[in-house]
Amino acid sequence: MIDTVMPTYGVRDIAFDRGEGVYLIDTNGRRFLDCGSGIAVTSVGHAHPHLVQALKAQAEKVWHTSNLYQIPGQFRAAERLTANSFADTVFFCNSGAEALEATIKLIRKYQSHNGHPAKNRIITIQGAFHGRTLATLAAGNNPAHLAGFGTVAPGFDQVPFGNLNALRDAITPETAGIIIEPVQGEGGIRAMDIDYIKGVRAACDEFGILMGVDEVQCGMGRTGKLFAHEWAGVKPDVMALAKGLGGGFPVGACLATEAAAAGMVAGTHGSTFGGNPLASAAVNAVLDIVLAEGFLDDVQRKAKVFRDALEAIAKRHPDKVEQVRGMGLMLGVKTKAVNGKVVAACREQGLLTVPAGDNVVRFLPPLIITDVQIAEAATAFENALAAVAEAA
Ligand SMILES: *Cc1c(COP(=O)(O)O)cnc(C)c1O
Repeated sequence: MIDTVMPTYGVRDIAFDRGEGVYLIDTNGRRFLDCGSGIAVTSVGHAHPHLVQALKAQAEKVWHTSNLYQIPGQFRAAERLTANSFADTVFFCNSGAEALEATIKLIRKYQSHNGHPAKNRIITIQGAFHGRTLATLAAGNNPAHLAGFGTVAPGFDQVPFGNLNALRDAITPETAGIIIEPVQGEGGIRAMDIDYIKGVRAACDEFGILMGVDEVQCGMGRTGKLFAHEWAGVKPDVMALAKGLGGGFPVGACLATEAAAAGMVAGTHGSTFGGNPLASAAVNAVLDIVLAEGFLDDVQRKAKVFRDALEAIAKRHPDKVEQVRGMGLMLGVKTKAVNGKVVAACREQGLLTVPAGDNVVRFLPPLIITDVQIAEAATAFENALAAVAEAA
């Protein structure tokens, strides 16, 4: 008989009862060091007192009103996100895929609003992941994700990773914009070169098309800057956020410049839940922490500590590790054993990691992780590698 929860996620044989900072405690009382963060979501750890307090306070006032009315917390979150980014305006939604849907719609609308309705195609990059709705599946173009779901939504063209000439060649009179992940997450923690990102910006300017960045996974401080594209010193026209944005509360956002969003007038887009009072309270509480003086500098410092620890392991075990890569606290280890086996072995050692494409084991710890906890994670990972080798 089918599971009452639709079995789209495969085997799940562990359940957590509670979290404390970077630790999760399962229903048997075992503690795990969480270097997955619910896939880059619980960016300030579990049960952070400031987030708990902010949500409790909002829960006692009002949960939901719809976007028929002003939501003061949403306005405040938008002011803070725009004050700290390239953007002038924010649309709030509930997930990463919805943030990408808004991004796709905005890019197309920009062109039609400016008298170019034929410009309605968007270029994406091989290895991308943009979500599981029909449009974002088409954007990601992953055959395994598309199989069996019928006609692929039109309007997307895909080019190889890191090849600027191929990207420029793919731009046609129908191209409306380009969407990149500055650091591909699901694709295997693949960071784009700074020169490539700059080249995307230049191509967009040259051809009058919009530059979109999907920072659903790599944004909100994950790379040690608030947004990953900042490392390249360029400003996109539109950006999708979710995952870490609410620290575990489901919320997404599409940020854009005033010029890019010119066509997004009343009635063009909407969401019942998007940016509701509870979600907005969560976003503001996360921003309180991530924007605090010195927080991101410390993420950069700790990222180096973590990376150095992983590089040292790679050096000690060249037979087991192919490469360490990533940016900030978005780190990937390409293993020689099957990554899923290494992830399972990590779990045996009390360490939670996440598999990614290209046989990579992903480390996405809460940004509040300490040096001592990084050392703990590294030891567990090294033990896990040894255990996999013994089993093989
Ligand atoms: C997770 C992810 C998405 C989709 O987010 P959902 O909240 O699962 O819809 C989109 N883009 C990137 C880069 C992601 O990592």
